[in-house]
Amino acid sequence: MNEALVVGKNQETPAAEPPLRVLIAAARPESDAQLTAILREAHQEAAIEAHPSVETALEALSGGNFDIAFISVDLDGEEGIELIGVAPTIAPKTAIIGIVDHRDPERDAQCLSAGALDCLVLEGLTPALVWHVVRFGVSRKRFEDRLRANNDQMVRHLIDLRDAKERAEEQGSAYVGVAEELSIAKEELEEALSKAEDNERRYRALSDTSPVGIWQMDTKGNTLYMNDSIKRLLEVPDDYDCLTIQLESLVIGDDTAPMHAALKRWADGTPGDAELRVTGMRTGEQYHLVMSGVGLPATARDAATILVTAVDVSERKKAEAAMHHMAHHDALTGLPNRSLFLQRIEFSLSETTRSGSYMAVLFLDLDHFKDVNDTLGHPVGDELLIQVSQRLLNCARGSDTVARLGGDEFAILCSNLKSPDQAAELAQRIVETIAHPYNINGDEIHTATSIGISTFPTDAKEPARLVSFADMALYTAKEQGRSNYKFFDAKMDEVVQRRKALENELRDSLLSEQLRLHFQPQIDLISGRLVGAEALIRWQHPVRGLVYPGEFIPVAEQCGLISPIGQWVIEASFIQAKRWSQTLTDPFRVSINLSAVQFRQKNLVQRITEMVESTGTDPDTIEFEITESMLMENPDQAVKAMWGLHELGFSLAIDDFGTGFSSLAYLKKFPVDCLKIDKSFISDMLDDPDYATITSSIIKLAHSLNLRVVAEGVENVQQAAFLLEEHCDLVQGYLYGKPVDADTLAKRLSAA
Ligand code: C2E
Ligand code: MG
Ligand code: MG
Repeated sequence: MNEALVVGKNQETPAAEPPLRVLIAAARPESDAQLTAILREAHQEAAIEAHPSVETALEALSGGNFDIAFISVDLDGEEGIELIGVAPTIAPKTAIIGIVDHRDPERDAQCLSAGALDCLVLEGLTPALVWHVVRFGVSRKRFEDRLRANNDQMVRHLIDLRDAKERAEEQGSAYVGVAEELSIAKEELEEALSKAEDNERRYRALSDTSPVGIWQMDTKGNTLYMNDSIKRLLEVPDDYDCLTIQLESLVIGDDTAPMHAALKRWADGTPGDAELRVTGMRTGEQYHLVMSGVGLPATARDAATILVTAVDVSERKKAEAAMHHMAHHDALTGLPNRSLFLQRIEFSLSETTRSGSYMAVLFLDLDHFKDVNDTLGHPVGDELLIQVSQRLLNCARGSDTVARLGGDEFAILCSNLKSPDQAAELAQRIVETIAHPYNINGDEIHTATSIGISTFPTDAKEPARLVSFADMALYTAKEQGRSNYKFFDAKMDEVVQRRKALENELRDSLLSEQLRLHFQPQIDLISGRLVGAEALIRWQHPVRGLVYPGEFIPVAEQCGLISPIGQWVIEASFIQAKRWSQTLTDPFRVSINLSAVQFRQKNLVQRITEMVESTGTDPDTIEFEITESMLMENPDQAVKAMWGLHELGFSLAIDDFGTGFSSLAYLKKFPVDCLKIDKSFISDMLDDPDYATITSSIIKLAHSLNLRVVAEGVENVQQAAFLLEEHCDLVQGYLYGKPVDADTLAKRLSAA
């Protein structure tokens, strides 16, 4: 202990040191006075409190901070000892000294074991002794206190140490867990790394052997990696450093803008395809690539990149282009077809409007092309079309479009014309050029053309209408004599519209049974008897009344309705002929007109055979009329059909004879039974000697070939007399009766 204890007057006492506080609990007042006096002598500044009873002493001790207490062992009888016993507890900082009147070892032991530090005998007590007792007692008490305090501190340290140790142990085990986890993580990381390396190797191998081009680049299109396929595709030389290749340097000029757009899209994180054309590095050949790009975002180590897979679709593109060409061009001549022609017109419309110029569509077809095909064969026909297309291209300007619209139909689009006259000049040039002979396989072939012209903006503003109007103009050009050209005018459209309306009505007529057959009598000139009748079709129109065949048969032929109409005529005539054969005793023959279209049909004989069977008509009672031109059109087919009908037992007559070009000798080829002299000869023969000569020659020559002769359109007795004189066999005409319905004719027959 290094702390100075200030207890006496002889000692230097610091001013701040509080005075010694002393409690005296003496059993007798004289003891108290004696002790106080001695203490005063030993410690003049001591604050001394005297308590004559245990009760007040106990209270004072527990409340006050006494340095030392002198307690009589025999205070309040024996209670002094008890007070000494509790004093250390209630006043732990106070040094307790027992007081006895005289020395008694038993009492001393009692006092010390109760807790007193010493036991003083009042007898012989001196201030020096008291000074020592006080000094010793207080020092000891303070030492004990410090000891206790140190001890407490030690205990606290021990507790803290134990806690720290426990915490350390806990943390230690936590660290062990973390370390274990770390080591597992490390193993996993190593495994993942090795897997990643494996994958990388695999992907690299896959990428190098992939048929798909794989190209990694930065967001500007600078190469970071290329697999073998893309190198092959781009024709990258073997020793070339592909990292110096930029996408832009290979993409062809037109595709630069889409390329930049694609790079931006990919870099922004939108994957997708871009079709780009690139140039091969060695050959300079152009390849069409479909590039599918995806952006790989930047990482801590690497900048953002773009991964592109590229597939070469050049072959597909070529095939598509070829298909596109095929879809828009005629295979034979290589010329644009109708669809491309219409597109070109559409394309030129706005340019023509803008420039204030004219545009013309020329529509043309070849005269007698069908004859060339039929007589000389399709290969010759094809060659003729090719040569015609060449001549048309030569006539047209480079900026014109020459198209083949189908069959022998061609069209030319001339744009940027100063006036429609320029189209007329071209048309005239074409008419002349096409008419020059063609040399095909050593044969000289002739053809000719007529041309219809429509113009924009005068006639129409839609491509299809322009073509259709040029077609109408062509139709009119042909009607007005071949080998010329005609501009469209609005009246032609009216005619066509009327025809269309007629077509529709005619179609309905079949369904609503508006067709009728009239019969015109044929008379035997010598006997004057009614021996037959020609079946002539009429259309009982609900509004227009009776419509004659001259008006609707050509329309029916053109729109394909002639087939069902012709069939109806044959069937109705068969039925009527059968009726008459059943009611009349003398032979009676019904003539039926066959149209050219009907006659060309391959199954004509077959159909007629079926109708013979279904109606039960005797072919002997029927004559079919065909015209000269029908024989000329396709002689081989005509011979076949006529022999077929002849073998079935039908008679065959040549109608309107004399108007065509056939010679009588030519007729020998055909199984013909009768000639019908056209009414134009009959009507003029009495006025014009040439006609009279022709008529009598026809009759004579026909007879020389064993053919019957019918004179058509006999209107007066003079004509009849002349024909009788010339030995004409039969006559037909208004003189003998106009065409009438079957019932009317039947009445006349029964009256005869
Ligand atoms: P086509 O076969 O030469 O018929 C004779 C035409 O002359 C009939 O005219 C008849 O009415 C008319 N005709 C008869 N006698 C006289 C006369 O004395 N004077 C005058 N001026 N004319 C007379 P239609 O009935 O108008 O028939 C015209 C043409 O229509 C026919 O000429 C025929 O080529 C065709 N045709 C009539 N019916 C049919 C048919 O069922 N099928 C086919 N394919 N054509 C028919
Ligand atoms: Mg006739
Ligand atoms: Mg006739």
